[in-house]
Amino acid sequence: MPFNLLKYGLSSEYPVEVDLPAPKELKSSYDVVIIGGGGHGLATAYYLAKYHGITNIAVLEKSYLGGGNTARNTAVIRSNYLTSEGVKFYAESVRMFEGLSNEFDFNIMYSHRGQLTLAHTDATVRSFRQRAEVNKHFGGRTEMIDRQQIRELVPSLNLDPGHLPVLAGLWHMDGATARHDAVAWGYAKQAAKRGVEIHQLTEVQELVIENGAITAVKTNRGTIKCGCAVQAIAGLSSQMMAKAGIRSPIQTFPLQAMVTQPFKPFLDPLVSSSALHCYVQQTSRGEVVFGGGSDPYPLFNTRSTLDLKESLLAHAIEMFPFLANAKLMRQWAGITDMTPDYSPIMGLSPVKNYYLDAGWGTWGFKATPICGKTMAELVASGGKVPDLITPFSLARFSTFKQVNEMGATAASH
Ligand SMILES: Cc1cc2nc3c(=O)[nH]c(=O)nc-3n(C[C@H](O)[C@H](O)[C@H](O)COP(=O)(O)OP(=O)(O)OC[C@H]3O[C@@H](n4cnc5c(N)ncnc54)[C@H](O)[C@@H]3O)c2cc1C
Repeated sequence: MPFNLLKYGLSSEYPVEVDLPAPKELKSSYDVVIIGGGGHGLATAYYLAKYHGITNIAVLEKSYLGGGNTARNTAVIRSNYLTSEGVKFYAESVRMFEGLSNEFDFNIMYSHRGQLTLAHTDATVRSFRQRAEVNKHFGGRTEMIDRQQIRELVPSLNLDPGHLPVLAGLWHMDGATARHDAVAWGYAKQAAKRGVEIHQLTEVQELVIENGAITAVKTNRGTIKCGCAVQAIAGLSSQMMAKAGIRSPIQTFPLQAMVTQPFKPFLDPLVSSSALHCYVQQTSRGEVVFGGGSDPYPLFNTRSTLDLKESLLAHAIEMFPFLANAKLMRQWAGITDMTPDYSPIMGLSPVKNYYLDAGWGTWGFKATPICGKTMAELVASGGKVPDLITPFSLARFSTFKQVNEMGATAASH
């Protein structure tokens, strides 16, 4: 809990705090240019300033802060992945999330819920056993639970939906949510306080590469020289990589979600089922959020579809039949940069001093703190890749060292 909340909760006077300082003139040159003002770009800027004393940084955002996938996601935070590389990485991120409100002195509304993933087939039960063991080994709190335990945990859940009765569950005690735009704002405010410049409505349109190294970016507000640049633009990753002449394995798919009117609290844990392509959670305001898998075809578009609404809601109602009478308030989409192995791409690129933070698909919100911290280490060291992100290099796709997280990502994010 941020101490300021307590302090001002007990006082009749509230501080008037400016969210972000007024933007300065865009300079002609920076040590570091960060392309993309989502959670990842802002976190990288913050940790560069905080831990490495590098503040001659410009974060360039073509629209408004956090207006990309950061504020479109369903805010699931968890570390119950399948591979040792994945579990170690995400477990560290969950740990960092727990302390962010205090670190920022700004409430990111971190809400510790636990996450329950349902198994409807024997094959899923087997893969959950493996996930539970890998998780425990690398410090996550995850265990298998049976139908009775599921019933006690989520009394309103229908354990016999249609043709797919629930056999068992993977109970991940570390599962949580946080307010996603508060995460972006927390990083932005703290980075700006340390001297980082954040320029909204500033789009990077071209990259200037000389002798194999990035030297400048061309924007709608002119050319800006840079010592190095970090690309953190989520769904548009492959397009910017193409501008840098980098071949990418990424395909972009829309991902949709929706939210109902508020209800009295009935659901504490996050509940997901990959067989039903659906996850359900109740927000602290009482609204019920539904999400599922990506749209079935690649597209750079954030429209919502009736197809997805019909299929997702049918499954959500199978899980929670009383929601049949719920009123839907909103449906929205983001565009997600999916990799073949459902793991991110972080680290070096074939262009010198041009660093990649990409391939975050449907799972990158939970990685915001640790990705920012490790990307900052990478940039500050001039290209020494931290151990934690070494397995997530772009090069893995040509050396056949993929980190396959498909089974642990589907419909759970
Ligand atoms: C519906 C949905 C649900 C999701 N649910 C979850 C979840 O529950 N848990 C989870 O962990 N993840 C989830 N995700 C994925 C997660 O949202 C993303 O992986 C994460 O937000 C990526 O953060 P980012 O900072 O890299 O990207 P973004 O927040 O998208 O930031 C990138 C920014 O770059 C800007 N930009 C793009 N091009 C340029 C340019 N040329 N110049 C300047 N700026 C540019 C964009 O405007 C944008 O603001 C979900 C995604 C969606 C769409």
